[in-house]
Amino acid sequence: MAGDLAKFAKDKKVKFFLFNFTDLFGTQRAKLVPAEAVASMQKSGAGFAGFATWLDMTPAHPDIFVMPDASSVIQLPWKPEVAWVAGDPWMEGKPVAQAPRNVLKNLLAKCGKRNMKLMAGVEPEFHLINADGSTVSDPRDTQEKPCYDQSAVMRRFDVISEICTTMINLGWGPYQNDHEDANGQFEINWNFNDALTTADQLSFFKFMVKSIAEKHGLRATFMPKPFVNLTGNGCHVHISVWDNARKRNLFHDKKGDLGLSPLCYNFLGGLMHHAESFAAITNPTVNSYKRINAPRTTSGATWSPNTVTFGGNNRTHMVRVPDEGRVELRLPDNAANPYLLMAVILAAGLHGIDEKMDPGKRLDIDMYAEGHKVKGAKKLPLNLLDAIRNFEKDTYIQDALGAELSSAYVKLKTNEWNQFCRHLTQWERDTTLDC
Ligand code: ADP
Ligand code: MG
Ligand code: MG
Ligand code: MG
Ligand code: MG
Repeated sequence: MAGDLAKFAKDKKVKFFLFNFTDLFGTQRAKLVPAEAVASMQKSGAGFAGFATWLDMTPAHPDIFVMPDASSVIQLPWKPEVAWVAGDPWMEGKPVAQAPRNVLKNLLAKCGKRNMKLMAGVEPEFHLINADGSTVSDPRDTQEKPCYDQSAVMRRFDVISEICTTMINLGWGPYQNDHEDANGQFEINWNFNDALTTADQLSFFKFMVKSIAEKHGLRATFMPKPFVNLTGNGCHVHISVWDNARKRNLFHDKKGDLGLSPLCYNFLGGLMHHAESFAAITNPTVNSYKRINAPRTTSGATWSPNTVTFGGNNRTHMVRVPDEGRVELRLPDNAANPYLLMAVILAAGLHGIDEKMDPGKRLDIDMYAEGHKVKGAKKLPLNLLDAIRNFEKDTYIQDALGAELSSAYVKLKTNEWNQFCRHLTQWERDTTLDC
């Protein structure tokens, strides 16, 4: 039978399966299930104590069972005796309402009923750093403008080419690898897909990049802003909506401004309308806000937005239109849970479509240099607490993601903010010790 993990194990000589799920913080959790047990585990799911992860459960809750989605299974090319499979948490015979993959699947089903399919491509940037995390791994990678540095990318050829080859073998269609705008920073791009597949791929990509970097004695970080003077790690999302058969890109209209359809402009209107609140999902950590709203980096630009604006092929706005038939949301970072990232984009966009929201006028200016001249452009939240408070006020987004997810998310993220506030930073000591 298709999707039979026991048969997969036999055919591929796989000895163990990682039954994977991500919690609300995007942390990847897994149990290692031996191939001998996989047939029964595929039926029953692998059991986890929800309280032991970030799902907002108590120790008294019954176990959750992660039901693997066999269509997502991947044999680890760097450890072929192990296969990874994304799964959906269930409890007492029902999908766990606040589990991110379930949240996304619910929204996708609603979208499917309208004969619409969200297609997305992501650009997860990362730094290759030393194993102790203190500096970028290549001491010679010091150019002021290191983007596309040919020598630096070749000095990391072993790592980058191993990741890219893996993606070729998986059929993801990678098409370019580049040294990014910060010292030690890289990006690998592959073909867009339906949003659930892309979310699974993004989860796996982070796991793969970290694992392969470690194999080479390095470490990969997806932290939004690991070094204060260097460009941070974004996770731009390219978005289009197609019909269910994926025959027609509903965002494409040759006659429309920039080749975008009225439906696309309404979706964009929804993104603009909800950005200040969905930042709590797309930029979910204290550190996220050091990437957006950041001062100029040593390369000359942060490449991340400060305001809720859009432009044509212009990288200084929150949304860029790189080509006909798609928009690029430049706000998100890789701390976002991949499933909630897609879910919140879809929720906002569908609201825009339903209410025929107008994204306003395109700005064709350098937002970094001339942003101060723009009247009325909404500022992105300045910190995680602002974002959480915006999210709490946005009842539409909360309803769309579900009450369980929304209240759990606000509770856990507010806790995280409070924990951060209990720290004294060096900056405070430097500026306040002699007050
Ligand atoms: P850039 O750096 O110019 O923003 P990249 O080439 O790094 O762009 O990434 C572009 C991403 O957009 C890729 O993942 C690509 O597959 C995806 N993409 C291209 N066309 C579409 C589309 N119609 N819908 C969604 N994603 C798309
Ligand atoms: Mg135990
Ligand atoms: Mg790119
Ligand atoms: Mg990039
Ligand atoms: Mg981009």
